[in-house]
Amino acid sequence: MLIDILTVAPQMVETALPHSILGRAIDSGIVRIQVHDLHDYAADRHRTTDSPPCGGGGGMVLKPEPIERAIAHASRLSQPDRIILTDPQGVRFDQEAAFEMACLDHLVFICGRYEGVDERVRLTLASHAYSIGDYVLTGGEPAAWVMVDAIVRLLPGALGCAEAPSRDSFADGLLDYPQFTRPRSFRGVGVPDALLDGGHREVESWRRLQQLRRTRALRPDLWARCDITADDVHLLESAAAHRCPQRYTEKEYAGARS
Ligand code: SAM
Repeated sequence: MLIDILTVAPQMVETALPHSILGRAIDSGIVRIQVHDLHDYAADRHRTTDSPPCGGGGGMVLKPEPIERAIAHASRLSQPDRIILTDPQGVRFDQEAAFEMACLDHLVFICGRYEGVDERVRLTLASHAYSIGDYVLTGGEPAAWVMVDAIVRLLPGALGCAEAPSRDSFADGLLDYPQFTRPRSFRGVGVPDALLDGGHREVESWRRLQQLRRTRALRPDLWARCDITADDVHLLESAAAHRCPQRYTEKEYAGARS
């Protein structure tokens, strides 16, 4: 996969890239990431990339021409599959979008800054606009990095365990099950017996039950949309009938956070 990131603050992206799984994916050639300094695509000797907004008001806005030239440069070897504007007003980026984009060959990310980007970039240059959440960042660099990280870890060979992404939260519409390690008891909370003494089937069914209960308790929005099977219904019903303790209710999470 080839990823081009267009930014006026290249160091913000470059310092984030060479670490952990992303860094290893770059080193092993699974992904090539090119960071373009938009100042290099300015037409004047001051390397101007921004300008005051038409109609007045404070702040500066990124100009469209350097972005257009940077996209043309990034497209010279292969046509991008998506040209993504990072944008708090864009479509909410989620795991489904990450899976979708992980199947593509070439992505371009445009990082906005200041008051934003000239609207003509959205209208005529970008193919998509994505937001990473309902809050406003100073610039699009952290947003691009978040999306790149979520996409690259899904590429074949990026993670040590090939099945890991299919077990993550959101992959099948549910949250992930809770994980435990040693010691057997920590602050009075024990590791569930099924994980210590259970066989493979018992572990799998305990984990599935936790996924179902957690999602139902914590994310009613996901719960309303997920496809649960007849086996899942049976699992929930028999756990309720046997009064299996339900950890991680919404109330407990709120308590843990406060
Ligand atoms: N005035 C703009 C608005 O209210 O919609 C916000 C501009 S913001 C300070 C500067 C840039 O940061 C944006 O152009 C965008 O590229 C990026 N950005 C800020 N918040 C973002 C978010 N939640 N998701 C993606 N990009 C974001």
